[in-house]
Amino acid sequence: MNYTGKPKVITVHRNRCIGCGYCLSEVHGFWIISPNDGKITTKEFINTKEQIIKVSVPIEILDCVKESCGNCPAGVFKIQ
Ligand code: SF4
Repeated sequence: MNYTGKPKVITVHRNRCIGCGYCLSEVHGFWIISPNDGKITTKEFINTKEQIIKVSVPIEILDCVKESCGNCPAGVFKIQ
């Protein structure tokens, strides 16, 4: 399968995250729980203290990432 198109940006409202981990199941290793504050982040933003981050998602894993976002009960993810 060929993947085309630009990466998608997902805005992550970390301040709403309750650390439940429901979003971790679909795409292993993309979302991670920060060891610093127990809220969702990515490897790229592992040391962030920002409460709102904009994460660029490669098109190849976009469907899985969207599904994982749909598992969140706290409205953390906004897909643009
Ligand atoms: S599912 Fe939502 S509230 Fe739970 S860890 Fe993931 S982002 Fe945080």
